[in-house]
Amino acid sequence: MRIDLINTGTELLLGQTLNTHAHWLGGEFFQLGLRIQRQVCIPDGDEIRLALLESIPRSDVIVVTGGLGPTSDDITREITAELLGLPLEQDSLVLEHIRAYLARRHRELNANSYRQAQVPCGARVLANRFGTAPGLYFPPQSGVMAGVGQTPHIFLLPGPPRELKPMWTDEVLPILRGLLTVEPPGLRNFKRFGVGEAQVAETLEEPLRATGIMELGYCARPGEVMVRVIGSAAALDACGVLVRAAFGDRLFSDTDELMEQVVVRLLRQAGRTVATAESCTGGLMANRLTNVAGASEVFGWGFVTYANQAKERLLGVKASDLADHGAVSEPVVRAMAEGALGASGADYALAVTGVAGPGGGTAEKPVGTVWIALAVRGRVAGEPVTTTVLREHFPFEREMFKAMTSQTALDMLRRRLGQEQA
Ligand code: AMP
Ligand code: MG
Repeated sequence: MRIDLINTGTELLLGQTLNTHAHWLGGEFFQLGLRIQRQVCIPDGDEIRLALLESIPRSDVIVVTGGLGPTSDDITREITAELLGLPLEQDSLVLEHIRAYLARRHRELNANSYRQAQVPCGARVLANRFGTAPGLYFPPQSGVMAGVGQTPHIFLLPGPPRELKPMWTDEVLPILRGLLTVEPPGLRNFKRFGVGEAQVAETLEEPLRATGIMELGYCARPGEVMVRVIGSAAALDACGVLVRAAFGDRLFSDTDELMEQVVVRLLRQAGRTVATAESCTGGLMANRLTNVAGASEVFGWGFVTYANQAKERLLGVKASDLADHGAVSEPVVRAMAEGALGASGADYALAVTGVAGPGGGTAEKPVGTVWIALAVRGRVAGEPVTTTVLREHFPFEREMFKAMTSQTALDMLRRRLGQEQA
Protein backbone atom coordinates (compact mmCIF):
# COMPACT_ATOMS: atom_id res chain seq x y z
CA MET A 1 0.00 0.00 0.00
CA ARG A 2 1.53 3.33 -1.07
CA ILE A 3 1.04 6.04 1.52
CA ASP A 4 1.70 9.76 1.10
CA LEU A 5 1.69 12.16 4.02
CA ILE A 6 1.16 15.87 3.34
CA ASN A 7 1.82 18.22 6.25
CA THR A 8 0.54 21.74 5.71
CA GLY A 9 1.53 24.81 7.68
CA THR A 10 3.77 27.75 6.86
CA GLU A 11 4.99 27.72 10.48
CA LEU A 12 6.50 24.26 9.88
CA LEU A 13 8.62 25.61 7.03
CA LEU A 14 9.67 28.76 8.87
CA GLY A 15 11.19 26.67 11.64
CA GLN A 16 8.67 27.95 14.16
CA THR A 17 6.91 24.65 14.82
CA LEU A 18 8.47 21.22 14.74
CA ASN A 19 6.58 18.88 12.40
CA THR A 20 5.71 16.34 15.06
CA HIS A 21 2.97 14.80 12.92
CA ALA A 22 5.50 13.36 10.48
CA HIS A 23 7.27 11.68 13.37
CA TRP A 24 4.17 10.48 15.18
CA LEU A 25 2.22 9.27 12.16
CA GLY A 26 5.29 7.45 10.83
CA GLY A 27 5.30 5.37 14.01
CA GLU A 28 1.54 4.83 13.88
CA PHE A 29 1.60 3.52 10.31
CA PHE A 30 4.59 1.39 11.15
CA GLN A 31 2.66 -0.33 13.94
CA LEU A 32 0.10 -1.39 11.36
CA GLY A 33 2.89 -2.88 9.28
CA LEU A 34 2.60 0.04 6.83
CA ARG A 35 5.07 2.70 5.83
CA ILE A 36 4.83 6.22 4.59
CA GLN A 37 6.41 6.25 1.13
CA ARG A 38 6.71 9.99 0.86
CA GLN A 39 6.18 12.88 3.21
CA VAL A 40 5.96 16.45 2.01
CA CYS A 41 5.66 19.64 3.96
CA ILE A 42 3.97 22.59 2.27
CA PRO A 43 2.95 26.12 3.25
CA ASP A 44 -0.63 27.15 3.93
CA GLY A 45 -2.71 28.21 0.97
CA ASP A 46 -2.95 27.01 -2.60
CA GLU A 47 0.11 24.70 -2.52
CA ILE A 48 -2.21 21.94 -1.29
CA ARG A 49 -3.70 21.76 -4.78
CA LEU A 50 -0.35 20.87 -6.35
CA ALA A 51 0.54 18.45 -3.58
CA LEU A 52 -2.74 16.56 -3.96
CA LEU A 53 -2.48 16.51 -7.76
CA GLU A 54 0.92 14.86 -7.38
CA SER A 55 -0.10 12.42 -4.70
CA ILE A 56 -3.51 11.24 -5.93
CA PRO A 57 -2.25 9.28 -8.95
CA ARG A 58 0.66 7.68 -7.07
CA SER A 59 -0.83 6.57 -3.78
CA ASP A 60 -3.39 4.29 -2.18
CA VAL A 61 -3.73 6.34 0.99
CA ILE A 62 -3.17 10.07 1.49
CA VAL A 63 -3.13 11.75 4.88
CA VAL A 64 -3.19 15.54 4.98
CA THR A 65 -2.63 17.36 8.26
CA GLY A 66 -3.59 20.96 8.98
CA GLY A 67 -5.44 23.58 7.07
CA LEU A 68 -8.91 22.74 8.38
CA GLY A 69 -8.94 25.73 10.68
CA PRO A 70 -11.04 28.86 10.49
CA THR A 71 -8.62 31.27 8.82
CA SER A 72 -8.58 32.21 5.15
CA ASP A 73 -5.42 30.20 4.44
CA ASP A 74 -7.01 26.99 5.77
CA ILE A 75 -8.37 25.68 2.47
CA THR A 76 -7.54 21.95 2.52
CA ARG A 77 -11.23 20.99 2.73
CA GLU A 78 -12.32 23.20 -0.16
CA ILE A 79 -9.46 22.25 -2.52
CA THR A 80 -9.87 18.52 -1.92
CA ALA A 81 -13.60 18.73 -2.62
CA GLU A 82 -12.93 20.72 -5.75
CA LEU A 83 -10.35 18.27 -7.12
CA LEU A 84 -12.65 15.32 -6.49
CA GLY A 85 -15.62 17.16 -7.97
CA LEU A 86 -17.67 17.00 -4.79
CA PRO A 87 -20.05 19.84 -3.88
CA LEU A 88 -19.95 21.13 -0.30
CA GLU A 89 -23.05 20.95 1.84
CA GLN A 90 -23.69 22.19 5.30
CA ASP A 91 -23.83 19.30 7.77
CA SER A 92 -26.30 19.99 10.54
CA LEU A 93 -24.69 17.53 12.98
CA VAL A 94 -21.29 19.12 12.54
CA LEU A 95 -22.76 22.58 12.98
CA GLU A 96 -24.49 21.43 16.16
CA HIS A 97 -21.20 20.00 17.46
CA ILE A 98 -19.46 23.32 16.78
CA ARG A 99 -22.28 25.26 18.42
CA ALA A 100 -22.14 23.10 21.56
CA TYR A 101 -18.31 23.20 21.61
CA LEU A 102 -18.29 27.01 21.41
CA ALA A 103 -21.13 27.34 23.94
CA ARG A 104 -19.09 25.46 26.54
CA ARG A 105 -16.46 28.18 26.05
CA HIS A 106 -19.04 30.97 26.18
CA ARG A 107 -18.62 31.73 22.50
CA GLU A 108 -21.10 31.85 19.68
CA LEU A 109 -21.30 30.53 16.13
CA ASN A 110 -19.64 32.84 13.59
CA ALA A 111 -19.19 32.93 9.84
CA ASN A 112 -16.20 30.58 10.03
CA SER A 113 -18.22 28.03 11.98
CA TYR A 114 -20.52 27.70 9.01
CA ARG A 115 -17.49 27.15 6.77
CA GLN A 116 -16.12 24.45 9.05
CA ALA A 117 -19.52 22.74 8.98
CA GLN A 118 -19.39 22.39 5.17
CA VAL A 119 -18.90 18.74 4.29
CA PRO A 120 -18.14 17.51 0.76
CA CYS A 121 -20.89 15.14 -0.45
CA GLY A 122 -19.68 11.56 -0.12
CA ALA A 123 -17.04 12.37 2.49
CA ARG A 124 -17.37 10.93 5.97
CA VAL A 125 -17.02 13.15 9.02
CA LEU A 126 -14.33 12.18 11.54
CA ALA A 127 -15.45 13.46 14.92
CA ASN A 128 -13.25 16.02 16.64
CA ARG A 129 -13.68 15.77 20.41
CA PHE A 130 -11.14 18.49 21.13
CA GLY A 131 -11.87 21.18 18.57
CA THR A 132 -14.34 22.60 16.12
CA ALA A 133 -13.01 21.45 12.74
CA PRO A 134 -14.10 17.90 11.89
CA GLY A 135 -11.72 15.60 10.06
CA LEU A 136 -12.83 14.16 6.73
CA TYR A 137 -12.46 10.78 5.04
CA PHE A 138 -12.92 10.40 1.29
CA PRO A 139 -13.37 6.79 0.24
CA PRO A 140 -12.01 5.86 -3.20
CA GLN A 141 -14.05 6.96 -6.20
CA SER A 142 -13.80 6.00 -9.85
CA GLY A 143 -13.75 8.28 -12.83
CA VAL A 144 -13.57 11.64 -11.08
CA MET A 145 -10.09 12.65 -12.22
CA ALA A 146 -8.62 12.31 -15.67
CA GLY A 147 -5.98 9.59 -15.81
CA VAL A 148 -6.78 8.27 -12.35
CA GLY A 149 -8.65 4.97 -12.30
CA GLN A 150 -9.58 5.16 -8.67
CA THR A 151 -8.80 7.89 -6.20
CA PRO A 152 -6.96 6.90 -3.01
CA HIS A 153 -8.38 6.81 0.49
CA ILE A 154 -7.91 10.42 1.56
CA PHE A 155 -7.91 11.57 5.18
CA LEU A 156 -7.91 15.25 6.15
CA LEU A 157 -6.88 15.75 9.77
CA PRO A 158 -6.65 18.87 11.94
CA GLY A 159 -3.29 20.51 12.72
CA PRO A 160 -3.31 20.77 16.53
CA PRO A 161 -1.73 17.58 17.91
CA ARG A 162 -4.25 17.37 20.74
CA GLU A 163 -7.02 17.16 18.15
CA LEU A 164 -5.21 15.00 15.61
CA LYS A 165 -4.04 12.20 17.90
CA PRO A 166 -7.39 11.18 19.42
CA MET A 167 -9.06 11.51 16.02
CA TRP A 168 -6.43 9.22 14.53
CA THR A 169 -6.90 6.62 17.24
CA ASP A 170 -10.70 6.71 17.44
CA GLU A 171 -11.65 7.37 13.85
CA VAL A 172 -8.84 6.71 11.37
CA LEU A 173 -7.29 3.53 12.78
CA PRO A 174 -10.53 1.50 12.56
CA ILE A 175 -10.86 2.47 8.88
CA LEU A 176 -7.23 1.61 8.11
CA ARG A 177 -7.44 -1.71 9.94
CA GLY A 178 -10.40 -2.58 7.73
CA LEU A 179 -8.18 -2.07 4.66
CA LEU A 180 -5.45 -4.43 5.81
CA THR A 181 -5.50 -7.77 4.10
CA VAL A 182 -2.77 -9.43 6.15
CA GLU A 183 -2.05 -9.52 9.85
CA PRO A 184 0.50 -6.78 10.62
CA PRO A 185 3.90 -8.22 11.54
CA GLY A 186 5.08 -7.93 15.12
CA LEU A 187 7.84 -5.65 16.34
CA ARG A 188 10.20 -6.20 19.25
CA ASN A 189 12.94 -4.03 20.64
CA PHE A 190 15.69 -5.73 22.59
CA LYS A 191 17.71 -3.28 24.63
CA ARG A 192 21.13 -4.10 25.90
CA PHE A 193 23.11 -2.06 28.39
CA GLY A 194 26.54 -0.88 27.26
CA VAL A 195 28.01 0.12 23.95
CA GLY A 196 29.07 -1.67 20.80
CA GLU A 197 26.47 -1.56 18.06
CA ALA A 198 28.93 -3.04 15.58
CA GLN A 199 29.89 -5.87 17.90
CA VAL A 200 26.25 -6.71 18.53
CA ALA A 201 25.60 -6.75 14.80
CA GLU A 202 28.61 -8.96 14.17
CA THR A 203 27.57 -11.70 16.58
CA LEU A 204 23.82 -11.61 16.12
CA GLU A 205 23.14 -10.57 12.53
CA GLU A 206 23.36 -14.01 10.93
CA PRO A 207 21.53 -16.06 13.56
CA LEU A 208 18.74 -13.48 13.77
CA ARG A 209 18.27 -13.37 10.00
CA ALA A 210 18.15 -17.17 9.96
CA THR A 211 14.94 -17.07 12.04
CA GLY A 212 13.08 -15.76 9.00
CA ILE A 213 12.38 -12.25 10.33
CA MET A 214 11.39 -9.61 7.83
CA GLU A 215 13.56 -6.84 9.09
CA LEU A 216 16.44 -6.18 11.44
CA GLY A 217 17.68 -2.81 12.62
CA TYR A 218 19.99 -1.36 15.23
CA CYS A 219 19.96 1.85 17.17
CA ALA A 220 22.66 3.06 19.55
CA ARG A 221 21.84 5.50 22.34
CA PRO A 222 23.96 6.64 25.30
CA GLY A 223 24.73 3.47 27.23
CA GLU A 224 22.49 1.16 25.27
CA VAL A 225 22.14 -0.66 22.00
CA MET A 226 18.72 -1.52 20.68
CA VAL A 227 18.09 -4.38 18.29
CA ARG A 228 14.77 -4.01 16.47
CA VAL A 229 13.23 -7.04 14.79
CA ILE A 230 10.06 -7.21 12.75
CA GLY A 231 8.39 -10.44 11.73
CA SER A 232 5.94 -13.18 12.62
CA ALA A 233 5.27 -14.06 16.25
CA ALA A 234 7.21 -17.32 15.87
CA ALA A 235 10.25 -15.58 14.38
CA LEU A 236 10.21 -12.96 17.15
CA ASP A 237 10.13 -15.66 19.81
CA ALA A 238 13.10 -17.37 18.18
CA CYS A 239 14.93 -14.02 18.17
CA GLY A 240 14.14 -13.61 21.87
CA VAL A 241 15.87 -16.90 22.68
CA LEU A 242 18.97 -15.93 20.68
CA VAL A 243 19.18 -12.43 22.12
CA ARG A 244 18.78 -13.63 25.71
CA ALA A 245 21.54 -16.17 25.23
CA ALA A 246 23.87 -13.61 23.67
CA PHE A 247 23.21 -10.69 26.01
CA GLY A 248 22.66 -12.50 29.31
CA ASP A 249 21.88 -10.05 32.09
CA ARG A 250 23.00 -7.15 29.91
CA LEU A 251 19.57 -7.39 28.26
CA PHE A 252 17.49 -4.95 30.24
CA SER A 253 14.30 -4.82 28.19
CA ASP A 254 12.55 -6.76 25.45
CA THR A 255 9.67 -4.31 25.41
CA ASP A 256 10.27 -0.62 24.98
CA GLU A 257 10.92 0.12 28.66
CA LEU A 258 13.55 2.67 29.58
CA MET A 259 16.30 1.76 32.04
CA GLU A 260 14.68 3.88 34.77
CA GLN A 261 11.31 2.24 34.16
CA VAL A 262 12.85 -1.19 34.59
CA VAL A 263 14.55 -0.10 37.83
CA VAL A 264 11.37 1.38 39.29
CA ARG A 265 9.38 -1.70 38.28
CA LEU A 266 11.90 -4.08 39.88
CA LEU A 267 12.03 -2.01 43.07
CA ARG A 268 8.23 -1.98 43.30
CA GLN A 269 8.09 -5.73 42.76
CA ALA A 270 10.59 -6.21 45.57
CA GLY A 271 8.95 -3.61 47.83
CA ARG A 272 12.28 -1.81 48.23
CA THR A 273 13.54 1.75 48.00
CA VAL A 274 16.55 3.57 46.60
CA ALA A 275 18.25 6.87 47.44
CA THR A 276 20.72 8.76 45.25
CA ALA A 277 23.84 10.80 46.02
CA GLU A 278 25.01 12.65 42.94
CA SER A 279 27.94 14.84 42.24
CA CYS A 280 28.82 14.93 38.54
CA THR A 281 25.32 14.01 37.28
CA GLY A 282 23.77 16.97 39.10
CA GLY A 283 20.48 15.20 39.84
CA LEU A 284 20.02 13.36 36.55
CA MET A 285 19.54 10.00 38.28
CA ALA A 286 16.85 11.46 40.53
CA ASN A 287 15.31 13.13 37.50
CA ARG A 288 15.21 9.92 35.50
CA LEU A 289 13.72 7.94 38.38
CA THR A 290 11.05 10.56 39.04
CA ASN A 291 10.06 10.62 35.36
CA VAL A 292 8.51 7.21 36.01
CA ALA A 293 4.92 7.14 37.28
CA GLY A 294 4.80 5.53 40.71
CA ALA A 295 8.38 6.53 41.57
CA SER A 296 7.32 7.88 44.96
CA GLU A 297 6.80 4.31 46.17
CA VAL A 298 10.47 3.50 45.67
CA PHE A 299 12.33 6.81 45.73
CA GLY A 300 12.15 9.48 48.42
CA TRP A 301 15.64 10.89 48.88
CA GLY A 302 18.05 12.34 46.33
CA PHE A 303 21.13 14.31 47.30
CA VAL A 304 22.91 16.60 44.86
CA THR A 305 26.25 17.18 46.55
CA TYR A 306 28.38 19.03 44.04
CA ALA A 307 30.67 20.77 46.51
CA ASN A 308 32.96 18.99 48.95
CA GLN A 309 31.22 20.78 51.79
CA ALA A 310 27.88 19.34 50.70
CA LYS A 311 29.37 15.84 50.57
CA GLU A 312 30.66 16.31 54.13
CA ARG A 313 27.59 17.92 55.63
CA LEU A 314 24.79 15.99 53.96
CA LEU A 315 26.43 12.61 53.48
CA GLY A 316 29.08 12.51 56.21
CA VAL A 317 32.00 12.13 53.82
CA LYS A 318 35.21 12.62 55.84
CA ALA A 319 37.22 15.77 55.16
CA SER A 320 40.36 13.64 55.40
CA ASP A 321 39.15 11.32 52.61
CA LEU A 322 38.42 14.33 50.43
CA ALA A 323 41.85 15.80 51.19
CA ASP A 324 43.79 12.55 50.83
CA HIS A 325 42.05 11.02 47.80
CA GLY A 326 40.13 13.86 46.14
CA ALA A 327 36.39 14.09 45.49
CA VAL A 328 36.65 11.68 42.54
CA SER A 329 37.87 8.60 44.34
CA GLU A 330 36.83 5.24 45.62
CA PRO A 331 36.70 6.15 49.34
CA VAL A 332 34.58 9.21 48.62
CA VAL A 333 32.05 7.48 46.35
CA ARG A 334 31.75 4.67 48.88
CA ALA A 335 31.16 7.15 51.71
CA MET A 336 28.61 9.04 49.59
CA ALA A 337 26.57 5.89 48.93
CA GLU A 338 26.74 4.74 52.54
CA GLY A 339 25.96 8.26 53.79
CA ALA A 340 22.87 8.46 51.56
CA LEU A 341 21.77 5.01 52.70
CA GLY A 342 22.11 5.99 56.35
CA ALA A 343 20.44 9.39 56.06
CA SER A 344 17.49 8.15 53.99
CA GLY A 345 16.88 4.75 55.48
CA ALA A 346 16.51 3.38 51.94
CA ASP A 347 17.37 -0.22 51.04
CA TYR A 348 19.79 0.78 48.27
CA ALA A 349 21.79 3.91 47.55
CA LEU A 350 23.53 4.86 44.33
CA ALA A 351 26.36 7.41 44.33
CA VAL A 352 28.38 8.94 41.52
CA THR A 353 31.34 11.32 41.43
CA GLY A 354 33.46 12.13 38.41
CA VAL A 355 35.40 14.58 36.26
CA ALA A 356 32.92 15.84 33.67
CA GLY A 357 35.41 18.14 31.97
CA PRO A 358 36.39 19.86 29.81
CA GLY A 359 38.73 21.16 32.55
CA GLY A 360 39.89 19.53 35.77
CA GLY A 361 41.49 16.37 34.39
CA THR A 362 44.87 15.05 35.56
CA ALA A 363 47.12 12.23 34.39
CA GLU A 364 45.82 10.05 37.19
CA LYS A 365 42.19 11.12 36.77
CA PRO A 366 41.66 12.19 33.18
CA VAL A 367 38.48 13.94 32.06
CA GLY A 368 35.70 11.37 31.95
CA THR A 369 36.85 9.46 35.03
CA VAL A 370 33.90 8.48 37.17
CA TRP A 371 33.38 6.40 40.29
CA ILE A 372 30.02 4.74 40.89
CA ALA A 373 28.90 2.98 44.08
CA LEU A 374 25.93 0.89 45.10
CA ALA A 375 25.35 0.47 48.83
CA VAL A 376 22.96 -2.28 49.88
CA ARG A 377 21.39 -2.53 53.32
CA GLY A 378 21.63 -5.90 55.06
CA ARG A 379 18.46 -7.97 54.92
CA VAL A 380 18.36 -8.83 58.62
CA ALA A 381 19.14 -6.76 61.71
CA GLY A 382 22.86 -6.56 62.38
CA GLU A 383 23.86 -7.59 58.86
CA PRO A 384 26.29 -4.98 57.56
CA VAL A 385 25.87 -2.73 54.55
CA THR A 386 27.66 -4.06 51.48
CA THR A 387 28.97 -1.59 48.96
CA THR A 388 30.25 -2.30 45.47
CA VAL A 389 32.16 0.29 43.48
CA LEU A 390 33.03 0.66 39.85
CA ARG A 391 35.45 2.93 38.03
CA GLU A 392 34.52 3.98 34.51
CA HIS A 393 35.88 6.32 31.85
CA PHE A 394 33.42 8.30 29.73
CA PRO A 395 35.44 10.99 27.91
CA PHE A 396 32.48 12.67 26.22
CA GLU A 397 30.89 16.10 26.29
CA ARG A 398 29.01 16.86 29.49
CA GLU A 399 25.48 15.78 28.61
CA MET A 400 26.67 12.50 27.15
CA PHE A 401 28.95 11.99 30.17
CA LYS A 402 26.00 12.47 32.50
CA ALA A 403 23.78 10.19 30.45
CA MET A 404 26.39 7.40 30.41
CA THR A 405 27.12 7.77 34.12
CA SER A 406 23.48 7.69 35.18
CA GLN A 407 22.80 4.78 32.83
CA THR A 408 25.68 2.77 34.28
CA ALA A 409 24.64 3.46 37.87
CA LEU A 410 21.01 2.57 37.21
CA ASP A 411 22.11 -0.59 35.46
CA MET A 412 24.23 -1.57 38.44
CA LEU A 413 21.12 -1.45 40.62
CA ARG A 414 19.03 -3.17 37.96
CA ARG A 415 21.40 -6.12 37.76
CA ARG A 416 21.56 -6.40 41.51
CA LEU A 417 17.75 -6.45 41.75
CA GLY A 418 17.61 -8.99 38.95
CA GLN A 419 20.01 -11.31 40.80
CA GLU A 420 18.10 -10.94 44.04
CA GLN A 421 14.77 -11.66 42.35
CA ALA A 422 16.05 -14.56 40.26
P1 AMP B 1 -4.03 24.34 11.54
O1 AMP B 1 -5.19 25.13 12.07
O2 AMP B 1 -4.52 23.01 11.09
O3 AMP B 1 -3.31 25.06 10.48
O4 AMP B 1 -3.02 24.08 12.73
C1 AMP B 1 -3.22 24.62 13.99
C2 AMP B 1 -2.12 24.37 14.97
O5 AMP B 1 -1.58 23.06 14.88
C3 AMP B 1 -0.97 25.32 14.83
O6 AMP B 1 -0.62 25.81 16.12
C4 AMP B 1 0.13 24.47 14.30
O7 AMP B 1 1.40 24.95 14.69
C5 AMP B 1 -0.17 23.10 14.81
N1 AMP B 1 0.32 22.15 13.82
C6 AMP B 1 -0.11 22.06 12.56
N2 AMP B 1 0.58 21.11 11.89
C7 AMP B 1 1.48 20.59 12.76
C8 AMP B 1 2.49 19.58 12.67
N3 AMP B 1 2.70 18.93 11.51
N4 AMP B 1 3.22 19.30 13.76
C9 AMP B 1 2.99 19.97 14.90
N5 AMP B 1 2.07 20.93 15.06
C10 AMP B 1 1.32 21.26 14.00
MG1 MG C 1 -2.14 25.79 9.30
